[in-house]
Amino acid sequence: MSLTESQAPANPEGSSERVQPTDAELVHLIGLTSSELTTLMTERGQPAYRGKQIARWLYSKRAASPSMMTDLPASLRTDLDTWAVARTLSAIRMDAAADGAIKYALQLRDGLAIEAVYLPYQDRVSVCLSSQVGCPAGCTFCATARMGLKRQLTAGEIVEQYLWLQDAQPNRRISHAVFMGMGEPLLNVEAVIQALRVLIVEVQVSARNLTVSTVGAVPGMLRLAESGLPVNLALSLHAPNDGLRAQLVPTARAWPLLQILSAADQYRLQTGRDVTYEYVLINNVNDSEANARALTDLLDGHSGSVNLIPYNPVKGIEVYEPSTSDRIGRFRRILVAAGRTVTQRMRRGLAVSAACGQLAGADGSKTSQRHIRRSR
Ligand code: SF4
Repeated sequence: MSLTESQAPANPEGSSERVQPTDAELVHLIGLTSSELTTLMTERGQPAYRGKQIARWLYSKRAASPSMMTDLPASLRTDLDTWAVARTLSAIRMDAAADGAIKYALQLRDGLAIEAVYLPYQDRVSVCLSSQVGCPAGCTFCATARMGLKRQLTAGEIVEQYLWLQDAQPNRRISHAVFMGMGEPLLNVEAVIQALRVLIVEVQVSARNLTVSTVGAVPGMLRLAESGLPVNLALSLHAPNDGLRAQLVPTARAWPLLQILSAADQYRLQTGRDVTYEYVLINNVNDSEANARALTDLLDGHSGSVNLIPYNPVKGIEVYEPSTSDRIGRFRRILVAAGRTVTQRMRRGLAVSAACGQLAGADGSKTSQRHIRRSR
């Protein structure tokens, strides 16, 4: 991302009146790389090394605001405080499940809320990040879909979720992140690419440990491939044919399965990274033996493992229920017999509605603040 005039408000010096920037005009420092911060500083007439200093404060020392960056000159800190922000998220609520998953409802500067989930495993700690407030994709089995799209998240707001979760849970280093929270990441592709860049370059998360999920937003898939970031792609299929898929993933009507699979092949070729096919198993909807056979036919010639996800129930969507273990077993065996590698996602956070498809935002005005453990 290059910094443009519009991202860096004009230097107020020389003007007799200081005009307060609106929220949208404030520069979110988190979400910029060290070299972008350097450009920003030099554009403001500051020495180039100030960019690195600010990056250190943001990503290593976790400064919540420019005023905390004590090795910057006082005049620069005061100036930054008028047109830039560092941390913008605040916690509304925390819900911990017995399996270790913790769901945080986080409030944005404009009062809207998102959810992000901390997922500790024996060998790693992962987080599930949101990319939009709500989601426009309309998947009929998903709680987030019912919110519609309220707005896109900025790169800074995405990176901040990761930092927030790490600060809230400091005992283990977060090594993995999946973009499977609220929103369809590739319908907010530029912000997601910028957030990935910052996580890789500044927060030192291995690109191999980052996974972007999509329902098959083809232009976004191609753009992510073109970005050259070697992150994993999780392609949510959920159906073996376009007819059934249109019922479960209405956005899918824009991109037929064959076009999506061809974009996935291109992604694999361009990035050298794996594509995983995700398939939510819903009882008597998409989990029959015929569905499994159709899926093996569909994926013939396209490499990648299949990740089966038992449907996570959502309050208010009673029409769907999880597949029985018998049906899951039969479905799985057909794929394996066809030579496909199949994994089954562990259900984490079910008890606190933090599992896949269950994130639905929170209304800060109605939720309790009792259990919040603040990071700063
Ligand atoms: S499953 Fe994902 S893409 Fe579909 S509506 Fe929910 S959040 Fe959006």
